[in-house]
Amino acid sequence: MGKMLLHACCGPCAMYPLDLLMTEGRDLDCFWYNPNIQPQFEFDRRHGNLQKACDHYSVRLISEGEKCMEEYWLSEEYLSKFPSRCDMCYDIRMEAAAKFCADNGYESFCTTLLVSPYQQHDKIARICDMKASKYGVKFDYIDFRPGFRQGQDMAREIGLYRQKYCGCIFSLEESKFRDKIYKSFEEGSLASTSTE
Ligand code: SF4
Repeated sequence: MGKMLLHACCGPCAMYPLDLLMTEGRDLDCFWYNPNIQPQFEFDRRHGNLQKACDHYSVRLISEGEKCMEEYWLSEEYLSKFPSRCDMCYDIRMEAAAKFCADNGYESFCTTLLVSPYQQHDKIARICDMKASKYGVKFDYIDFRPGFRQGQDMAREIGLYRQKYCGCIFSLEESKFRDKIYKSFEEGSLASTSTE
């Protein structure tokens, strides 16, 4: 079996898929490309926690895209090319994963988005299939959802930050934890200023 590129959206969602795949002895690298995560503070925080999850399993993390790209998520013109904002979001990320897979000699790709019962699982799988055909690589479909709770528990055990909204500013505004989340941004920025 050839090498897999595992797109990962965050540390907690990566835990179960990594555990399963490493136990199976799969050869893989993790791939970060999530310009949907807003604001920048949260983008950096999720990226840092994914690095911790990868370190835990001694897996290499490849990171593409240096910052969140609010302009895509706020552009009505760009959005109008897709049936919905989430379609656009999955499309942009799976496009990058499939392209990186093809350009860098991986046999297949998959995504940790397939672990979450809160994501649109079938839609993600359909988009991955489309991108796999476009780039001539294999989409390695795995339904990780049965391990979602176990993965969240493992994330807690190793002290990973577990976010309370999907990623974009719209999902943050809709979160019932909105005020707490904004407060955590303030506290986080203050903590980083005080250590400078
Ligand atoms: S709700 Fe989640 S999947 Fe949908 S656009 Fe926002 S970040 Fe992307």
